[in-house]
Amino acid sequence: MAAHKESVFSAMLEEFDAAAHILNLEPGIWKILTHPKRQITVSCPIQMDNGEIEVFTGYRVQYNITLGPAKGGIRFHPSVSLDEVTALAAWMTWKCAVAHIPFGGGKGGVICDPTKMSQREIEALTRRYVAEIIDAIGPEKDVPAPDVNTNEQTMAWIMDTYSMHVGHTTTSVVTGKPVELGGSLGRREATGRGVMIATRESCKHLGMDLQKTRIAVQGFGNVGGISALLLAEQGARIVAVTDWKGGVYNEKGLDVQNLFEYVQQNRTVAGFTGGDPLASDKLWGLDVDVLIPAALENQITMTNAAEIKARIIIEGANGPTTPDANDHLHSRGIFVVPDILANSSGVTTSYFEWVQDRYGYFWTEAEVNQRLEAKMCEAFDAVLKTSLKYKVDMRTAAYIVAINRVAIVTRMRGMYA
Ligand code: GLU
Repeated sequence: MAAHKESVFSAMLEEFDAAAHILNLEPGIWKILTHPKRQITVSCPIQMDNGEIEVFTGYRVQYNITLGPAKGGIRFHPSVSLDEVTALAAWMTWKCAVAHIPFGGGKGGVICDPTKMSQREIEALTRRYVAEIIDAIGPEKDVPAPDVNTNEQTMAWIMDTYSMHVGHTTTSVVTGKPVELGGSLGRREATGRGVMIATRESCKHLGMDLQKTRIAVQGFGNVGGISALLLAEQGARIVAVTDWKGGVYNEKGLDVQNLFEYVQQNRTVAGFTGGDPLASDKLWGLDVDVLIPAALENQITMTNAAEIKARIIIEGANGPTTPDANDHLHSRGIFVVPDILANSSGVTTSYFEWVQDRYGYFWTEAEVNQRLEAKMCEAFDAVLKTSLKYKVDMRTAAYIVAINRVAIVTRMRGMYA
């Protein structure tokens, strides 16, 4: 793995090292936990609607499976790379450990631009990609889920393709499915709900009143959109939202429900008339209390970190802050709730979905949300206590909790051969 500056995997390693030093992690375990267990690269030939054949490259990385089956989403994006997917799979490992669920970490990605593809092409690509990695996945092996540009429909195709191959319906091979075919109630909203809980708990810790907070959100997909809705429901003011195309600002607070409906039709917040247009790069310097990056990696960097006025940052996205920017924010006393904690409710509810599928018995939405609330608060408390105990930021604390849990089990299991 090339350790150059822009490498997302290098950023993960930097975060890991900071915590591993504090834990005094022994060199052997250190080596194991900084190497991906399996990296699979596949070529997926697809006949496009114009009759031509295109070949798409896909990856599935199983970073660590010590605690259980690999778990993590699949993203469709032009910027996908093996480096990125490996870092994301490592983050899933730490995320599942922080969330205290019996899963390892995995991630998949296909280099493609779904905005330029038809539904049929996307379906064909999904099915071919799954066929190419079929031997590596399964309810006990590796359980994919949605991520950037994949959704419930994509998961339905994955479930169907896998089931056709093994000859019987296997719902628990994938999570984030439509409820009709074994999905869990509450899964769609789960990541946003966890971001809302993380914001609420952070405010509580810092003695701030959530109802008086002004919040800016980057990204309005499954994470940013639902987070904004649920936070607005709690009485917080969502003053700004930006996405891939532009942004919108309203000092009095945006009508998030209306914005949500607008985005469903227009695929972007740009052009929403319930506020003033906002250039995407102006989001960071806004006079707000809470900033929620909920898009892609490497968004908060040394070029914009100094502009930030927010007191709290809740990382809805995976890896939105570069390590040097993170240090800068910490030195200014900004309270950053890291990705592996802040957005962990998505995978926690995936775990609930997997349990329900295997049990064949489904919970009510209230039961799911109640269990999610308990899990998220347990994780938040564990990380906060660790951060106070070691006098480190919340990111380092989350890694300490995660690495410790995986290391304990690695030691207990011992070496094979
Ligand atoms: N893609 C989500 C994440 O990054 C969810 C993964 C899952 O549910 O397995 O956490």
